[in-house]
Amino acid sequence: MIMKRKIQPKSEPVVPAELLEQAKRSVSPDLLTKAAKCSVCGADNVIASSEPLCWVCRRLKISAWREMEQQIPIQE
Ligand SMILES: [Zn+2]
Repeated sequence: MIMKRKIQPKSEPVVPAELLEQAKRSVSPDLLTKAAKCSVCGADNVIASSEPLCWVCRRLKISAWREMEQQIPIQE
């Protein structure tokens, strides 16, 4: 029995090499690092969204929102 899994090369790459190179050139590495910093704690693992927040700060923010909503009494 052959246990090794052969990696089958695909006939066509998912992204053409030329397009990849163009994308790399068009995006400045400085801009990328700036955008990838959390605005609260400065962490690198920022989730791409409208706000530059890492997943930790994002979770804290969301949980804070939920607590505020729970504390507001429902008035009818
Ligand atoms: Zn953060």
